[in-house]
Amino acid sequence: MSQLIRRDPRALWIARNRLHPLHAALQPQAESWLGANGVLRKNPHAAGFIGPNGIKRIDRSGQQQAGFNAQSVSDEALQLPLHRVAQPAFYIAVVPDMPGGRLSSHDKDLLGLARQLAGSAGAVLAVIFAEHKETALALNGVDRLLHLNQDAYHGYCPEVRVEALRQLDQQLQPHHWLLPDSRSAGGELGRRLAASLGERPATRVWQVQGEQLSGRAGAGQQDLLQPLRRIILACAECAQPVSETRHEVLALELEAAILPRSAVIVDLGAVAVDPAQTPLAEAEFILSGGNGVRDWPLFHEAASVLGATEGASRVAVDDGHMPRPRQVGATGTWVTARVYLAVGISGAVQHLQGIGACDKVVVINLDPGCDMIKRADLAVIGDSSAILQALIEQVQAYRQGGARAAA
Ligand SMILES: Cc1cc2nc3c(=O)[nH]c(=O)nc-3n(C[C@H](O)[C@H](O)[C@H](O)COP(=O)(O)OP(=O)(O)OC[C@H]3O[C@@H](n4cnc5c(N)ncnc54)[C@H](O)[C@@H]3O)c2cc1C
Repeated sequence: MSQLIRRDPRALWIARNRLHPLHAALQPQAESWLGANGVLRKNPHAAGFIGPNGIKRIDRSGQQQAGFNAQSVSDEALQLPLHRVAQPAFYIAVVPDMPGGRLSSHDKDLLGLARQLAGSAGAVLAVIFAEHKETALALNGVDRLLHLNQDAYHGYCPEVRVEALRQLDQQLQPHHWLLPDSRSAGGELGRRLAASLGERPATRVWQVQGEQLSGRAGAGQQDLLQPLRRIILACAECAQPVSETRHEVLALELEAAILPRSAVIVDLGAVAVDPAQTPLAEAEFILSGGNGVRDWPLFHEAASVLGATEGASRVAVDDGHMPRPRQVGATGTWVTARVYLAVGISGAVQHLQGIGACDKVVVINLDPGCDMIKRADLAVIGDSSAILQALIEQVQAYRQGGARAAA
């Protein structure tokens, strides 16, 4: 795995952004310079760049374009300045959704908005329920952390969580409560919190400017301007995620412990659903096939083994390999999956439009220069059938290994 060349989208973005404090550190090394005695010195190691297939390329035309290799950037270079808030004048409390125990891109946008509202005097407080696996809270603007990990906060328990937030509100009186206006958790939790505090929340907020909020209204067709409210339920892309500072993530010290109350709602656990029946617009994990899929039975087998919902490009649908409702893209369904695995899809603009809101895009393709790979978080260059077959074998071996370990 360590041999794989992975793009780091954040580092690439910093390398393009001349105003970023780390911009200089992420520039390619100088190839030649004039030495003290007037002789031109050349650095043979700086020539060339790592191509998408992991092989070093040297452009002899002198028009070297991709001199930047994110992997060559040392960790020290990525040490961002530390933002300290010793004595917070006030708190901006954020309750991220943390699907799968990690910050979603929606959560990161929300933390960016919190940072904007906190300024230099306030502290951003993240309130996280149940277990989490997130290791990048410091890079996402969290100054203080309240992690409530008692059993009572596990599973679906909105009234218990709201009660905890109410207790926190009484102690800290945060200037703002920010929650993602999402279907998975924040939308409901935020509305319940607002009702229990007797306050009117601002919902579906997509922009905060000074003392004014813009939110979606009229079935998403209109904007509603309103004064800044204390409880804000915000949409994805409401602000830029934090990218220029590191934060302390200190455990929040409270005068009185937050006590979970007994639950009225009983969570009987998740119900297994057939991913094949899940509507594309609601699917969390999509395996999508295009014109580069050579073996469709193998593709269906891979979807079933991975537990993914099937999607397709328009060409795959037009050729009769997949039904029309499975088409992803501008004239198909716009999807919001957390993981979108595209097999043999070139990345035409109409297809890319449909996956704009996907969190992580993984691509299997023969052509390292195709547009789908430019959009990818992880790309595997190779034949679709060979890679799908290997993927099925790996997943089955992993599951059998897991079952043996459990026994
Ligand atoms: C008005 C309009 C609306 C459209 N709407 C949509 C839409 O909603 N959705 C949509 O998807 N398209 C849409 N299209 C079509 C779109 O422009 C592209 O034609 C289409 O997306 C291409 O599909 P594809 O990537 O599967 O096929 P291709 O463009 O043919 O790409 C196939 C890819 O597979 C790779 N490949 C080939 N063999 C292999 C192999 N053995 N292993 C791995 N990879 C391999 C190739 O390198 C290539 O990248 C629309 C077009 C128009 C004009």
